[in-house]
Amino acid sequence: MKIYISGLYSGPNPSAGLGIARALRAAYPDAELVGVDYSSRSSGLHWPDFDRIWLQRPWREIDLDTYQDQIATLLDAGAFWISGLDIEALWLAHCLHPNDRLLVPPVDAFARTAKPSIEAHSSLPVDVPTFLSTADRSDWDIYAFCRRHAWRIWVKGPYYDAIRGSNWPHVSGAVRHLSETWGTGNLFVQVHVSGYEESIALSAYQGELLDCIYMRKRETTAEGKTWAGAVSEVPEGLLEPLRNIVADLAWTGGAELEMLRDADGKLWMIDWNPRFPAWIYGAAIAGTNLPARLVERSSGLPAHPVPIMSPEFTRVVLELPVREEFPLPAPTEPQTDALQPAFKYPSDMPSLMEQLRARPDVALGLPAEQFDEAAPAPAIPNVMSQDLTSIPLDGSETPQWLFLGATARSLFARAADLQRQFQATSIDVAFAYSIKTNPDERLLQLARDSGLLAETISQREIQRAVAAGFAPEQIVMNGPGKWWPHSTSHTSLYAVFCDSIDELRRVLTKEVKSIGSVLGIRVRPPQVKSRFGIPLDDYDIFQELICLVEQIPSEISLGIHMHMASSFIGVETWWDLVESVLEWSQAIEGASGRSVECLNLGGGWFPDDWEHSLSPRLSSVVTSAASALPDLRQVLLEPGKALAQPTMALAVRVLEVRATDDGVGEIVVDGSIAELPEIRNYPHRIATLDPTGQEWHALGRGSGRILGRLCMEDDILASQVAIPEYTQPGDIVVFCDAGAYDRSMSYVFGQG
Ligand SMILES: *Cc1c(COP(=O)(O)O)cnc(C)c1O
Repeated sequence: MKIYISGLYSGPNPSAGLGIARALRAAYPDAELVGVDYSSRSSGLHWPDFDRIWLQRPWREIDLDTYQDQIATLLDAGAFWISGLDIEALWLAHCLHPNDRLLVPPVDAFARTAKPSIEAHSSLPVDVPTFLSTADRSDWDIYAFCRRHAWRIWVKGPYYDAIRGSNWPHVSGAVRHLSETWGTGNLFVQVHVSGYEESIALSAYQGELLDCIYMRKRETTAEGKTWAGAVSEVPEGLLEPLRNIVADLAWTGGAELEMLRDADGKLWMIDWNPRFPAWIYGAAIAGTNLPARLVERSSGLPAHPVPIMSPEFTRVVLELPVREEFPLPAPTEPQTDALQPAFKYPSDMPSLMEQLRARPDVALGLPAEQFDEAAPAPAIPNVMSQDLTSIPLDGSETPQWLFLGATARSLFARAADLQRQFQATSIDVAFAYSIKTNPDERLLQLARDSGLLAETISQREIQRAVAAGFAPEQIVMNGPGKWWPHSTSHTSLYAVFCDSIDELRRVLTKEVKSIGSVLGIRVRPPQVKSRFGIPLDDYDIFQELICLVEQIPSEISLGIHMHMASSFIGVETWWDLVESVLEWSQAIEGASGRSVECLNLGGGWFPDDWEHSLSPRLSSVVTSAASALPDLRQVLLEPGKALAQPTMALAVRVLEVRATDDGVGEIVVDGSIAELPEIRNYPHRIATLDPTGQEWHALGRGSGRILGRLCMEDDILASQVAIPEYTQPGDIVVFCDAGAYDRSMSYVFGQG
C-alpha cells in the first residue's frame, strides 16, 4: 500500500503531514509512505517515517495541469493521497473528485465550511463569533465595528490566516497585508472570544463518520498553535449532530473543528479545517488513530490497533539527521520582518492561491473574487456634501483647509439641544468643548453661542477662551500642565480637575483662589492603563486622597473626573467604566464624608458614537449617577473630536496620475501627512467630484493609492482605495473628517 501525504513543514506553525505519517506508520508498519512538499525548507522532509520524498517545485513554478495528471496516474495505480495543506486539498477536490483514493472533502463541502460563516456549523450547539465581511463594507463601517467591539478583533482570510488587531493601524494594516498575500479583498473582521481552545478532530469517508475525538489545548505557542493537549471523547450533544453534518457534506478525509469555550461555558466555532490537524498523532497516543481509520475504511486493509499510551500529549523539539538527497538550502536573505514568509506560510500556499485565481475553471467558492471598486464606499452626509459644493475650489491654492459651516452648526446645535433636554431636571448636564482638539476661532464661537462651556489644559488656552468671549466661570481646567505658562492673574474658573495627588495638595494650598465652584480629581480606575489620573487601587494613595478631599473648603464642590477615549477602549467598555467610576465615587464619599456634586465623564468620542451611543443613553446614565450619588448636581462632558472632527476637510490637488493596466494605480497629491497627521489612525472619508463636476462622492475600497507630496516613505495618504478612471492632474481631492487633531496637530514641512 502506497500513501502520499502532503504538507511536511514542522516548525512552530506546522502542517499536518508529519503527524499523519507517524499515525499511519503505527497502524501500517509495511505501507510505503511518500512525503510530498513544495519547499525544500519544510523540515518534515527529513522525518524517518517517510520511505520516500516527492519534492515538487514551488507552486508558482508548477504546471498545474501536468501535476494534476501525475497525481491522477498515481491514484489510478492504487495509491492514496492525504492532503495536509488546505488549499492543495481544495485544488485536488476541484480537479480530481470523485476518486475513492483521494482522501479530501468534495468541493461543495469547502464552500459550506469556509469562514467566516462556516455554514455547516448551524446544526451544532455552537455559535460563530460576530463578524463583518470586508468585501461589502467600507473602512468606515469596519472602524465602527471595531469600536463597538472594543478592539478585540481578528482579521481573517476565508481559508487560512488570521491577524489580531487592537487599533486601526493594526486592523487596516492586517487587511492590506492579507489581501496582498492572498490576492483577495474578501476578508472579514471577527470579534475575539476569550476562552479555552477546544477542537474536534474527525475522520470520515464519503459521508460516514468513522471516528472523532475531542481535544482541549493545554499549552499553545505564541501563534496560538497547539503545544500540549488532553484528548477525550466527543460529548454526546455534539456527536449526533456531527454525524449528520458529515453525512450531509459527504465528507471524506480528516477535519478539525476549532472552537473556544467562553467563561459561561458556551462554545464558539472559529474554524473548520479541511484536513487532519498537525497534532493528530496526539490522538493516536490517546488510542484513537484517525488517519488509520480513514485508510482502513478506504483500502479495506485492517490497521494495527494502537495502544492507549496516555490521554494527554505534549510536543518536544527534536534534532533530526538531514536526508542526504535533500541537503539544507542556503539560508534565506536576512529579512527585516520578524517572521520570514517561508515560516509563516509553510509550503508556499499563497503562491498556489495565486495560481488558482488565474484559472477561471477553478471556482474557489468565494463570494467576491476581486475588489468591487464601487461598492464599499462610505456615505457622505448631505450637509457635508452641501458644504463641499458651496465652497468654490477652482482657483484656490492647495492644500487648503475647508471649514464646513453647515456641518459645524448642525453638530453644535444638536449638542445644545441635548444639553437643554436636562434643563428642567434636577441634574444639570453641561458640555465643555475641548479647546486643544481644535482651537479654531469659528468653533469656539459656535461653542460659546450654543451655550457650551470651554475645556482648557493650559493658561494659553484660558486666554484663548476668554478672547473668544467665555467668562472665567464658563471655563473648565484639566490636564497635567494647567499652570503653564505661569500666570499672574488668578481668575476664578468654573472647575479645576487635578491630575495627581501632588497637584491636589498644591492647589489646596496655593491655587485655591483659581477655583470658582468645583474642585475635582481625575481618577484612574484599576482596570485602566493610563498615565493620567490618581490610581485608586493603591491603599496609601487612596488614604492621602481622602485626607486631601476632607480639606476642600466647604463652599467648593467636589468633582470626579474620568477621561478615556471610547473610540480607543470601545464603546461598551466605556459604559462599564462609568459604572466603575460611580462605585469609586461612592467609596470616596463614604471614606471622606464629602459628597460628589459634579461628575465629569470627559471626551474621546468618535462623532458617530457620540450621536448613536452617547446621546440616546445620556439620560439613563444621568439617572444612574443620580441614584448612586445622592447629592450630585451636575454631569459634565468634554467633547472635542465628537464636535470638531467632521467640521473641517483638507482639499488637495492631484499632481500626477499613474495609470496601470486596470485603471488608475496611484495619484500623487499636493497634501501630505504634515497636513493630515492622523490619516492612519482612523478612516477618513475621501471625496472627489463626479465627472459632471456637480456631486461629491466618497472613494470606496480598491487597489489604488494616494501618495503625498513629501519625499518620505511614510507619506501615503491612502492605500486600497478605488481612484476614479477619469481622475486628471489638477483635480481636487478632499479629505474629510480632518477637523480635530489633523487640523490642530498639522505642521509645516517640506515647504522651504
Ligand atoms: C483632549 C481632551 C478632551 C477631548 O478629547 P476628544 O478626544 O477630542 O474628544 C476632553 N477632556 C480632556 C481632559 C482632554 O484632555
